[in-house]
Amino acid sequence: MKSTTIRKVLIANRGEIALRIVRACAEYNIRSVAVYTEPDRYGLFVKRASEAYSLGEDPLAGYLDPLRIVNLAVETGCDAIHPGYGFLSENPELARLCELKGIIFIGPSAEVIQRMGDKTQARIAMTEAGVPVTPGTDGNLDSVEQALTEAERIGYPVMVKATSGGGGRGIRRCDDADDLRKQFPRVISEATKAFGSAEVFMEKCIVNPKHIEVQVLADSHGNVVHLFERDCSIQRRNQKLIEIAPSPQIGEELRARLGELAVKAAEAVGYCSAGTVEFLLAGDEVYFMEMNTRIQVEHTITEQITGVDIVREQLRVAEGKELSYRQQDINYRGYAIQLRINAEDPKNDFLPSFGRITHYYAPGGPGVRVDTAIYTGYEIPPYYDSMCLKLVVWALTWEEVVARAQRAIDDMRLHGIRTTANYYQQILKHEDFQNRHFDTSFVARHPELSRYSDKRHPSDVALAVSAAIAAYAGW
Ligand code: ADP
Ligand code: ADP
Ligand code: MG
Repeated sequence: MKSTTIRKVLIANRGEIALRIVRACAEYNIRSVAVYTEPDRYGLFVKRASEAYSLGEDPLAGYLDPLRIVNLAVETGCDAIHPGYGFLSENPELARLCELKGIIFIGPSAEVIQRMGDKTQARIAMTEAGVPVTPGTDGNLDSVEQALTEAERIGYPVMVKATSGGGGRGIRRCDDADDLRKQFPRVISEATKAFGSAEVFMEKCIVNPKHIEVQVLADSHGNVVHLFERDCSIQRRNQKLIEIAPSPQIGEELRARLGELAVKAAEAVGYCSAGTVEFLLAGDEVYFMEMNTRIQVEHTITEQITGVDIVREQLRVAEGKELSYRQQDINYRGYAIQLRINAEDPKNDFLPSFGRITHYYAPGGPGVRVDTAIYTGYEIPPYYDSMCLKLVVWALTWEEVVARAQRAIDDMRLHGIRTTANYYQQILKHEDFQNRHFDTSFVARHPELSRYSDKRHPSDVALAVSAAIAAYAGW
């Protein structure tokens, strides 16, 4: 591929990831174009981009309309589109339209997105490449009868999963035949509602595994490297809450094996751009689970331990340039933890808690990075993901990074909404977490952690008073 220069990028996303891309563009001397729907008019990403255009009143329609977005890119003189995560990032239609209209899509080819976005296709591709996959069905399931037969073969417990699923939705564990009969139609209905596809398949349920994923980067010249792994085992309902790089629970030998497997997976499908290969780990057994063909929410922690700017590399390889690094240039140092601070009330079954941020004071000090698009006075719209801030900390040792995460939460002031910050404080204090001993069942096994009581969870009145004092005092 001939290399070109990207001068202007349209960012087909919102919130913190849109701002992350704006920042990468600014540092790489590229103009950025934000697009937003009206509820997002006051978003920080809109203010910080070089230009911004409205996609209309509807909170979501504009973000989900590939043709409109590609046309806008053409009209505003953009050379490229960055899709971020969620929304259209794994929609092959956007990549295809870009190709058709002469816009560079910052990601892999439409064909690779399509193949890896279909979890059964991905399983087939990986099996062919010699990457071990979670035992399961060869294809999709046509009926509950077929599901029951397959489950007998695979052995309970099993997982029924949406073939085009993502974001932890459309996944249900079934412990026996009765359970499977009950859950099967539920997954189909969830999959149809959330992903517009009724396709489901089955995997063996790996009991209490660790979720370990490997960041890969590839260019259009056939170079593929990995940037080590992330441990995303701290999850609630199959959704990641806290991520760590590298995993404090694995040794160098397994680390090297995972890296090699991820590179093999990416090479097998002709991957280009940043991607993540997700594995389940049971003891020393490694199973491929899925590949995400986009920038991931938790790319931050890999950046902190390797020093590689992953979004910048995405921009470079989209220009047809070679990766800036060969495998032997990439090292990691220390540990990084990301806390996905969500606008949710842990004491009330994690009910979303949207509204106006009456007061926000960012944490800082050594080893602290905050990726967010919120600010004091900003009103979090109720239409989108509840994640409102990514608090990322880095330190040389595991003990230090855990202590630093706790200190950073204490540093932060975020008033006006409920968040998961103090809940994470309880996880960070737990001895199993501190002793590097946790898997995907940790959160469910410790419901008591969400019932903490502390002075840092004041009443609404106290919150209002402290916000008023803060506003008056100007801090
Ligand atoms: P990551 O895989 O980067 O850790 P998540 O799984 O938390 O991130 O997903 C990030 C965002 O993208 C969430 O808002 C999630 O709902 C959305 N998302 C992920 N996959 C899909 C999908 N297949 N369809 C629709 N939305 C998705
Ligand atoms: P998504 O596309 O929504 O991210 P994944 O296939 O990556 O879905 O699975 C999300 C999470 O669900 C995993 O991190 C893991 O905790 C759980 N999970 C998925 N498949 C299995 C399985 N076969 N056995 C045990 N847990 C699983
Ligand atoms: Mg996943």
